[in-house]
Amino acid sequence: MPLRAKVASSVSRTAAALSRAAGRGDGSVIGGWIGLKIDPDLLAHLAEGRAIALVSGTNGKTTTTRFTAAALAVLGPVATNSFGANMPTGHTSALAGAGATPYAVLEVDEHYLARVIEDTTPRVVALLNLSRDQLDRAKEVAMMAQLWRTALAAHPAVHVIANADDPMVVWSAAGTAHVTWFSAGQRWHDDSWVCPECGSTIERAGGDWWCTGCPLRRPRPDWVVESDRVQDPDGYRHPVTLQLPGRVNLGNAATALAVAAEFGVRAADAVPRLAGVQSVAGRYAQVHRDGRTVRLLLAKNPASWLEAFDMAEDAPTLLSVNARDPDGLDTSWLYDVDFSPLRGRPVLITGDRAYDLAVRLEVNDVPFRHVSTFDEAIRATPPGRLEVIANYTAFQDIRAELDRVN
Ligand SMILES: [Zn+2]
Repeated sequence: MPLRAKVASSVSRTAAALSRAAGRGDGSVIGGWIGLKIDPDLLAHLAEGRAIALVSGTNGKTTTTRFTAAALAVLGPVATNSFGANMPTGHTSALAGAGATPYAVLEVDEHYLARVIEDTTPRVVALLNLSRDQLDRAKEVAMMAQLWRTALAAHPAVHVIANADDPMVVWSAAGTAHVTWFSAGQRWHDDSWVCPECGSTIERAGGDWWCTGCPLRRPRPDWVVESDRVQDPDGYRHPVTLQLPGRVNLGNAATALAVAAEFGVRAADAVPRLAGVQSVAGRYAQVHRDGRTVRLLLAKNPASWLEAFDMAEDAPTLLSVNARDPDGLDTSWLYDVDFSPLRGRPVLITGDRAYDLAVRLEVNDVPFRHVSTFDEAIRATPPGRLEVIANYTAFQDIRAELDRVN
């Protein structure tokens, strides 16, 4: 690396370490920020010589990145931004902190994908899904798809691993020369009823979809999730047992296997590594407290709330919603979520915006009880299971109360 990059990298590591020592989080944002101030090309310098996979999409990035890093570890040391700092500051910090590794897997905020492809020249880019998110600042889904499409068209050497079940993702990736399609299902359809190519209606039947006005339609997937197995492009079905719940995580696992295969990792070697992943930044963690088994599910936009309802068992359920900066300030997305799957379960609500939830549940005919604290929720629940579904900072608050479980 050039001298400036070496200095920037070293200062970045020190700043991150100081931030950690001062108890101000993991330091990856500040470390990367300082490094990039000293050398604006630092990320590109740190990426050089590494085989890199990028993982982007609205939901499932952090988990898929963790799975992919675990799968690539079959080959050797892997750098990764495992704390979920998914902008260039976080990537810079992750690579500076890891030292020289032959491989890197980076979770990328969908808005930054074009820039990070430019800086890191990845071998593989995985595109998971696109749906509405953080209404006060995220781009419209169709705009996001257009940005991705333009970014990929400018880098024809990149191998794309993309979700065949999401029409917006398919349209983004369809023009690229090298693409592997996976099928992981799509629970949320409300951002892809209109064809991004021609504006006609998209029809769906079973797992299939097609545009009624142009040739855009679901490609034949190379990797497919089938109950508890993942089928590879040769038709072999690998049994996949995960510690993380739900079909959505099997889909994330299938994506990781498809990415790893592009690096030469055999699915049979990678599958046992996926089984070792217990929780991801506290998500899906199970904690025992006063005779209750508490499970934490993060849900931050309508698509991920639907997935959380599928994952949560039929048990007392605590919902917590905040609207602080990292969550997005606009909670009107609550009206995009159908809360009726919760009918019949004892429902508790809390968080800064519990009353927004209260109105929404009232409209959906779901009875609930308001609690002021997590402790009160525990006391209001009989011994047994308590499912917790919370958005970003609400999740962090509860995690802090549970002594930063992981
Ligand atoms: Zn069309």
